Amino acid sequence: MSKQVLRALAMVAACAVAGQAFAADVVNLYSARKEALIKPLLDRYTEQTGVRVNLVTGKAGPLLERLKAEGRNSPADLFITVDAGRLYKAKVAGVLQAVKSKVLDAAIPAAYRDPAEEWFGLSLRARPIMVAKGRVDRTRLTTYEGLAEPRWKGRICMRSSSNIYNQSLVASMIAADGKQRTLAWLRGLVANFARPPRGGDRDQIKALAVGECDITLANTYYLARMLRSDDPRQREAASKVEVVWPNQAARGAHVNVSGAGVTRSAPHRAAAMRLLEYLVSDDAQQWYAETNNEYPVKPGVAVSAVVRSFGEFKADTLNLAQLGAHNADAVNLMDIAGWR
Ligand code: FE
Repeated sequence: MSKQVLRALAMVAACAVAGQAFAADVVNLYSARKEALIKPLLDRYTEQTGVRVNLVTGKAGPLLERLKAEGRNSPADLFITVDAGRLYKAKVAGVLQAVKSKVLDAAIPAAYRDPAEEWFGLSLRARPIMVAKGRVDRTRLTTYEGLAEPRWKGRICMRSSSNIYNQSLVASMIAADGKQRTLAWLRGLVANFARPPRGGDRDQIKALAVGECDITLANTYYLARMLRSDDPRQREAASKVEVVWPNQAARGAHVNVSGAGVTRSAPHRAAAMRLLEYLVSDDAQQWYAETNNEYPVKPGVAVSAVVRSFGEFKADTLNLAQLGAHNADAVNLMDIAGWR
């Protein structure tokens, strides 16, 4: 056979192999997000690339336990969960692996990914102060630290200290103010509670709406989801509450992420990385943030109208790995201060 024919045959063979590998590409995804909040995006990815994504959804804690139990035999390639505190726990549990990607590094600001590149933020949420419209003098409440002032006695509703969002917020206070000042702050804050902690973020917003209390902390997407709800009662409650962006003169408001990491066991590591890179593309970022009522993690991507209505704000630039690093201290200090 001539050289040209051989070369042509070799090319055909190479294409066939590449084509096969491509068609057989699969990513097994364990996700702590509800199916509706991620599945349409994965379907779009499959349409565009032919890569099949097997989605396993579950609660964050049990999914991590499952990853740990499965160990190196886990079929999971990618783990998606919410809150940097939880991503940190996955990393410490040894179920993730570092991946090096110029695409991820370019799209995601350094504060929103693990310095060792074991997890990456995919969407951003803030946990600002929320107040009942017209019942709080906003000029007197400009920082998280200010929530501990005696003037707010009996006016603050809060969810339990067992919740990771509050733990991460307290971890950010430890990073900013140190342990001693944070403990003093926690004592003042707890003394201002209107009632023992209970319920989720939505319940705090509802408590403000019915006048049980005037001030709370809640993640932005809860207020946005209530404002966009089909249920008029949710919209009504949310319309009585407004966002106060704290600490704008200094470090900025506390933010957190939903994020993902390639698992240590990943049978399809390269495919998992490509999916992760897709999730930070402009299109995916816009869809994901809009659907979840969050902020895109990638700068320059548009936010939804409802989220925009909360106004622009300065976000804390603390590397979110610090939220995990200070988690144990945060839980301990909340306990000492009597935040149940
Ligand atoms: Fe949530």
